[in-house]
Amino acid sequence: MEPVEYFTVDLTQIEGNGDFTCPKCRAPISPDDITENTYTITETVMSEDSLEKIILTCNECRSHIKLVGFEILARGDNLTNNRR
Ligand SMILES: [Zn+2]
Repeated sequence: MEPVEYFTVDLTQIEGNGDFTCPKCRAPISPDDITENTYTITETVMSEDSLEKIILTCNECRSHIKLVGFEILARGDNLTNNRR
């Protein structure tokens, strides 16, 4: 059995509309892609009424990727001011 690798992707650190590439195999992953061709959502963690994190599995390399930073996104426009 191959060891499973875990990565954390902080949504506040990525450019654009939330699309990112798998940290291991570089497969493009879009949270807006509901077809789940490139990834499978393993777990969705809610905090109060908002999304706290999503754990997903890359379908290309089977890495587990933890998506964090949703609470920042939920705050809206401030995000633009905090990144280069
Ligand atoms: Zn991958």
